[in-house]
This record gives sequence, C-alpha cells and structure tokens, in this order.
Amino acid sequence: MTGYRIPTDLLPLDGRFGCGPSKVRPEQVDYLMRHADLLGTSHRQKPIRALVARVREGLADLYRLPAGYEVILGNGGSTAFWDAAAFSLIENRSAHLAFGEFGAKFVKAASAPWLQKPFVRVGEPGTVSAFDGTEEADVFAWPHNETSTGAMAGVTRQGPAGALSVVDATSAAGGVDIDITETDVYYFAPQKNFASDGGLWFAIMSPAAIERVNRIAESDRYIPEFLSLNIAIENSRLDQTLNTPAVATLLLMDAQIQWMRESGGLAWAGARTKESSDLIYAWAEAHPNASPFVANPDHRSQVVATIDFDETVDAAAVAALLRANGVVDIDPYRKLGRNQLRVATFTAIEPTDVRRLLASIDDAIAHI
Ligand SMILES: *Cc1c(COP(=O)(O)O)cnc(C)c1O
Repeated sequence: MTGYRIPTDLLPLDGRFGCGPSKVRPEQVDYLMRHADLLGTSHRQKPIRALVARVREGLADLYRLPAGYEVILGNGGSTAFWDAAAFSLIENRSAHLAFGEFGAKFVKAASAPWLQKPFVRVGEPGTVSAFDGTEEADVFAWPHNETSTGAMAGVTRQGPAGALSVVDATSAAGGVDIDITETDVYYFAPQKNFASDGGLWFAIMSPAAIERVNRIAESDRYIPEFLSLNIAIENSRLDQTLNTPAVATLLLMDAQIQWMRESGGLAWAGARTKESSDLIYAWAEAHPNASPFVANPDHRSQVVATIDFDETVDAAAVAALLRANGVVDIDPYRKLGRNQLRVATFTAIEPTDVRRLLASIDDAIAHI
C-alpha cells in the first residue's frame, strides 16, 4: 500500500511537519555554511560570544523586552530547565496546569524532596485547565502550548503579588505573539518555531524572577552547578554558557531570528502560523470523517494542529502512506494513543505547503 505515489503536484514542497525537531529552512543551512569558519572555535572567544550576543539581542528585540528583562540561556533543553526551576526558581511550593504530557513533566520535576508537594490543576487531553485562586504558591506554571495535544492556553499573570508566572513556551515561542510583561519566565528550546536543533534552553526572565534566583542562590539550598539559574544568569550576561554549547544550533537559530525580525517580527510570525492552522481546522470541520481534537475553538493551537478521525479512516495508515511519499512526522503524540494526525504549523512552514499537505491527506484517504 505504501508503494502508492501521491501525485507530485499535490505534495508539499517541503515535507517536514514534525513538532520538534522541525523543519529547518534551507536559507538557515546556507547561513550555517557561510559561517562555517565559526565551527570548531572556542566558545570563550569573541566570535562565538558575539554570536550568543546576537541571539540574545535578537530575542530581546523580537519580544520587545522592557528594561530589566533579560535573555538567559543554558544547555540541556526545556527538560533541563524544569529541574533548574525546581532548584533555582521555586521557593517553597509551585502550582501547575497539567493538561498534557509536557505540563505533567514539569509537575514531576517540581515534586522535589526540598519543596512542598505542588498544586496541580489537571485537564483532560484536548482541554485547558485553570487555577482556582486558592493555590498558595510562589510559582504558577503552565504550558503556553501543550505540544502533546494541540491545546493552547492564554498568557496572563496568575497568582498573588510576589508569585512568579513561569510559562513553558517551548513550542509557542517564535510562533505566537504575546505580551512578555504577563510573564516572569518565558522559557523555550530552539528546535520548534526557531527551526534549529535541540539541546539548549532559553528563558526570558523578569527582574522579579532574577531577584528570586539570586535570593535562593544565597540560601543554604544545595544547587548543582549545571542546574543553577544563578550561574546561568552570570554566564549569559557575558554571552557564554557554563559548559560548551552547540555552535551550529546557535547559528541556525541566529538565522531564524534575523528572518523573523526582517519579516515583521512576532506579529508577522503569529499571523502566519494562524493562517496555516486555520486552514487545517477549516478543512477538518468541513470533512465528513475528521474533526479538530480540541473542541473549544479558543483553545485550538495555532502552532500544533491535532485532527481526530472517525473509524472509517485509519490515521496511522495515512501517516505511513504520507511518510513513504516524503511527508513526515504527522503521527499523533506517541502516548496519546488516538486515531489522529498532528501537524506542526510553525513559523518556518509555508502556508502554501499546509494547503498541499491537506490535498495530499485527501488523496491518501481516497487511495486507502
Ligand atoms: C518539546 C517540548 C518540551 C521538551 O523540550 P526539550 O528541549 O526536548 O527538553 C517541553 N515542553 C514543550 C511544551 C515542548 O513542546
């Protein structure tokens, strides 16, 4: 069955629709090649520190950072940031929204023996949960975009004065416009809308977050160096990381940030991902055998679209047929276990390619 060829004029020009690692634009790879002389050189010397500075300044410009907000980075991706937050950001107790795999993973990291048991507001996959106002916590944490389900939450401050709003923006950053002053920590990794490789984490931190990190660092809590946000702040201010970063990853990210800024910044990126995801949701609503997984239109993600199929369509067979035709990674999140397709509509992805993807899915379903 996977020997069937979808007509070439229907196929997307670029078949990468995965949610991370995700499509890297050819122009980014050209940029990497043009700066190949930086590869294999010391991250303590000027050229690499200038690259880190460009990425930090580019993010500050993209997010229109007010005075006092800083761009911090370190190694280990968003997963490492959860552990760093447990050591360096949560004072006594955190409160979390968990409506998918990634929100739940931060709860696990925050369930550390030196902290009180976190408050957790659980939501069924496909929904967005909410705090109820009774949580006495010093960190309020939620995913901006729950990549495992395609549900997107709002970004507005939560909790009482003095509490920090800490947002997992791994799959939203660079693809959804927000007001950064509604957050104290907006953290992400480069392999989603920034179309780079994984392995680093970035966190945009407010003055209150930086003050919290400093205070906890001065307490007698044991903090491993690698997971110390205080040490990450000190290094980031010098345009360095504690240990060796992936230089190629930084170059790919630098190219993507420049492209976003030249194209019209976050407002432009947000409009583009919205256009792409709207195409998918409209297609699903019009399709007799498909429907958007996220029932509430206000919670449908503009960067990760999830589409359920009824029993007449075998979504796994559709994904396999598309894969055999070079259109990859539209399988649902592995643990969700639904008859579903999940499509990244990240900034790098052309809306015209999303149209072609939908035509290819129609063709695959008709063939199967
Ligand atoms: C991908 C993703 C992560 C994990 O990122 P890593 O860099 O692989 O650790 C965390 N949260 C969300 C919302 C994600 O989409």
